[in-house]
Amino acid sequence: CGIVGYIGHREAYPIILKGLQRLEYRGYDSAGIALYDGNTIKLSKTKGKVADLKNRLENEIKTDGKLGIGHTRWATHGVPNDVNSHPHYSNSGNLVIIHNGIIENYEAIKTELINRGYSFKSDTDTEVLINLIEEVKKKEGVKLGKAVQIALNEVVGAYAIAVFDKNKPNEIVVAKLGSPLAIGVGEDEFFIASDASPFIEFTKNAIYLEDEEMAVVRLGKKVRIRKIKDDSLVNPIMQELKF
Ligand code: GLU
Repeated sequence: CGIVGYIGHREAYPIILKGLQRLEYRGYDSAGIALYDGNTIKLSKTKGKVADLKNRLENEIKTDGKLGIGHTRWATHGVPNDVNSHPHYSNSGNLVIIHNGIIENYEAIKTELINRGYSFKSDTDTEVLINLIEEVKKKEGVKLGKAVQIALNEVVGAYAIAVFDKNKPNEIVVAKLGSPLAIGVGEDEFFIASDASPFIEFTKNAIYLEDEEMAVVRLGKKVRIRKIKDDSLVNPIMQELKF
């Protein structure tokens, strides 16, 4: 399983597609990509290989959008099929998430969200998390980064996630506990990935998140890393990639 993301001035699609191919060694049963084209989110996902996704994407959603996320799934909750593949939308259709890992207490949260009027298309724990984030954002009236933080403090489990909001297409919010997450820092562009292989030809500067850390990756700003639990700021340690 793996995650890839891009935000910057280049076309996101080829970077994400190639990135997913480089992460294939991690193993997976499904793959998907969501791109923001400046107006709407274009999303395609499928059970099967990245090559299958590529054929689909070229017909369905290829855009020159400069923001996107991609995922290879190793199913834990819900069988491997198209609907359970990532990315997943929130109910409003504004938020989109990719997730590696497991949300252990998703059933209780799902029941609570259903009571509040939410509905679910997939059987995944991940779709529960993105709707919890949406509910927190609405209820508390907070920004996406804060909503992700509050939601993650309610979940038990493991994750590497990347989330964006189509109404705020200048940022991607990422968080890590258990699964790896690297941020490639370029000039006016950022890369997100499970390891540095998807972005090594674009930048040699990488920040590796530690467990229980999250970051808001925003164009024109320095990467801000915080501890998920107590909101304290963490000094980002930039590593120079050697290969
Ligand atoms: N638990 C999630 C799912 O089953 C993510 C699995 C993964 O790590 O790819 O959809």
